[in-house]
Amino acid sequence: MKIHVETLAVNTTRRCDVVDLTSDVDRRVRDTGILNGVVTLFVPGSTGALTTIEYETGVINDLKKAIERLAPQDMYYEHNERWGDGNGYSHVRAALLGPSLHIPLVDGRMSLGTWQQIVLLDFDNRPRERRVLVHVMGE
Ligand code: ZN
Repeated sequence: MKIHVETLAVNTTRRCDVVDLTSDVDRRVRDTGILNGVVTLFVPGSTGALTTIEYETGVINDLKKAIERLAPQDMYYEHNERWGDGNGYSHVRAALLGPSLHIPLVDGRMSLGTWQQIVLLDFDNRPRERRVLVHVMGE
């Protein structure tokens, strides 16, 4: 078994930025030559998250609205009193979605649906330079 480690650098804007990573990850995975195994992705940081979705503006906006209903930006957050950084909602949103994904790799292709893209969500209240760790494990 081989383990190949890649890092994607992603510049985000702020407040629910949704970035499609699929083609970038796909290219990195193909370059490893690993055909069968698993691809894991992890975003370090407590205000970023990873998920999959159909990357289409309608459903992206629907997701943003659903997240706003779950953890509204203008609610009271204890975190803001404690740290004064105003991003309590960002931490809660990131915790709900989670920081990682794993995708089966079969015959050199990630087992994603046709309309299933890998997205990084940045919930912070300022632009960030994110790193996404991509581990390709298999043979
Ligand atoms: Zn904070």
